Amino acid sequence: MSRVEELARREIRRMENYRVQPVTGEKLDANESPFPLSDGLKARLADWLTKEEDLRVYPDTDCVELREALAEKYGVKKENLLCTVGSDQLIDFLNRAFLEEGDRVLVPEPSFSMYALSAVLNHGQAEAFSLDEDYAYPVEEILEQCCRVRPKILYLCTPNNPTGNRIPEADLRRLVKEAGCIVALDEAYGEFCKEDHTSWIREFPHMVILKTFSKAYGLAGIRAGYALGDPEIIGILDRVRPPYNLGTLSQKIALFALTQPEYKEQIEAICKERDRIYEALKIYNGKKGFYVYPSEANFLLIKFGRENPGQALLAAGLLVRAYGGKMSRFVRATVGRPDQNDRLIRRIARMIEEDEE
Ligand code: PMP
Repeated sequence: MSRVEELARREIRRMENYRVQPVTGEKLDANESPFPLSDGLKARLADWLTKEEDLRVYPDTDCVELREALAEKYGVKKENLLCTVGSDQLIDFLNRAFLEEGDRVLVPEPSFSMYALSAVLNHGQAEAFSLDEDYAYPVEEILEQCCRVRPKILYLCTPNNPTGNRIPEADLRRLVKEAGCIVALDEAYGEFCKEDHTSWIREFPHMVILKTFSKAYGLAGIRAGYALGDPEIIGILDRVRPPYNLGTLSQKIALFALTQPEYKEQIEAICKERDRIYEALKIYNGKKGFYVYPSEANFLLIKFGRENPGQALLAAGLLVRAYGGKMSRFVRATVGRPDQNDRLIRRIARMIEEDEE
């Protein structure tokens, strides 16, 4: 081990770098929107870029206008909101604000890997609870684990990435009510099934909702996310926020997006395409180890009879999210444009034909 490596924190030394697959082929791997930027936004962007003053100076560190617009959208106060560089940064703030050396967070498995990774980066440890066979959240087990493990934070994701299912309302309420710790409710894909628990933040001061402009708003490139919660918990998260965290253009674009109604139609179109892919593939369920799972988000979890099915899809020019370990027969495919989705359906049908009985 080199001297420099030795000087790195113990957890970091053992860690692999977070890598994203290189982009080749149709990009169906990161749950981005298939819709291009609107002409209205493009025109405004050109405007903003020619006003030199906007970018010469630091952004509004408190994102006041954006928080006010979001507060109006959700019928809350701006003190209920915190803007971050993607919801990724919000996950970091949660772990940074609440974890001390050795503290635990409880995370679903399978789910978004950043909850555990960020906990380790913030001196904590992650304990996983397995989702049921059909990927439902096992409420009793989770609550029992909360009592035993005494985590600082319980992470919940609805609809869950990569399984696509949402946590039923009654289960979610019990989990939030009885967890006995901070509950981080990730609704990154909430817009695709009208999942929104903002009204709960008044009742549960220990809950934070994680939202993003990356998925339904089709703005993954601006890296804008936000938290909704009681002013007390928002204030705590704000203490670990570096100044000027969200850039000027990101704030402006997010603010503009909130005034544009077209994203609602886009969500409907994405959900319709998702259901079309699901129906087209569902007929193969149970055949040669194949299974497509129902989804309430903008992606589908698909299981194959073969190992590493992502490779055959990539060879056909379709880049999907592939997994290792226990999930090595699975891929997660983002709902793309209709022509991309047609190609995906055709290629998968061929793969099933090719697979051994
Ligand atoms: N939560 C979940 C469940 C996600 O899938 C993602 C993106 N993959 C994020 C949060 C982070 O999204 P962003 O940082 O772009 O807001």
